[in-house]
Amino acid sequence: MSAPLLELTDVHTHFPVRHGGTVKAVDGVTLSVARGEILGLVGESGCGKSTLARTILQLVPTTAGTVILEGKNLTRADAATLHAARRDAQMIFQDPYASLNPRLTVYATLAEPLLVHRICPPADVPARVAALMEQVGLAPRFMRKYPHEFSGGQRQRIAIARALALEPKLIIADEPVSALDVSIQAQILNLLADLCRARNLTLLFIAHDLSVVKHLSDRIAVMYLGKIVELGPAAEVIDHPAHPYTRSLVSAIPTVRTDARAARPRLPLAGDPPSPIDPPPGCRFHPRCPYAIDRCREIVPPLVAASPHREAACIRLSEIPPL
Ligand code: SF4
Repeated sequence: MSAPLLELTDVHTHFPVRHGGTVKAVDGVTLSVARGEILGLVGESGCGKSTLARTILQLVPTTAGTVILEGKNLTRADAATLHAARRDAQMIFQDPYASLNPRLTVYATLAEPLLVHRICPPADVPARVAALMEQVGLAPRFMRKYPHEFSGGQRQRIAIARALALEPKLIIADEPVSALDVSIQAQILNLLADLCRARNLTLLFIAHDLSVVKHLSDRIAVMYLGKIVELGPAAEVIDHPAHPYTRSLVSAIPTVRTDARAARPRLPLAGDPPSPIDPPPGCRFHPRCPYAIDRCREIVPPLVAASPHREAACIRLSEIPPL
């Protein structure tokens, strides 16, 4: 097996807050992502998943731990190494309108990275821009139009084309469809997954909702208050969720009557997630967990094997009845 493209070891990203205290946005994440893998990273807003994405690219500094991309330790990298890494790893954001420059045409948006990073000779740029547009399902005849002349879904296609322009090895997509109309979300998700699979690109796909990632991910990582609480093959995590938090997320996935999961009980989450400034002691999920016992308030559960390819962070895994 080849070495993982991305390896995070015990990564912590903390921020001091003005009136005292520390936000522990990412608090001990260990994760490796293989070349060509699509990993879905899921959790409620504020669980630290977007901060983890920014930590990977060192857009926010790592408090502790290491981020290794393509064998290079980015947490101790010089400016030149970081510059190269940010070309290898491209981000796609939730709101394409905010991430695209409204004063640049599609042509200028896509030509700029090709020229700045000398991806191709200047004479080849127009053909390259046209090819990128075709790859994301946009007609090249629209290359002189501006972002506001496109729909939300088309703008996200432009953002995907811009990410592909630099021929990255890793794409980090942070909630890329949550600002889009439900009717076009599936088109954009399938486009992104198909493009990554065709190029053997690694995709870290961040979402707050399991139903968005369940079909396109090879593996799913579930994050709660700065920690990964479950990690494994997508089908296993969805069909046999082990951690009580994952079970709640899975039970909230809309199903149709013919689906085997239709008979599953709904396990609504009680209350909001606690603040990452002062997370609960022991298992961070204990104030909302229906299976919590006194020991859960004292022990920080490590990720342990829940099945041959899956890990979950819960001290009562063997005692909780299957869903
Ligand atoms: Fe619930 Fe305890 Fe497991 Fe945490 S360790 S998920 S509180 S049962």
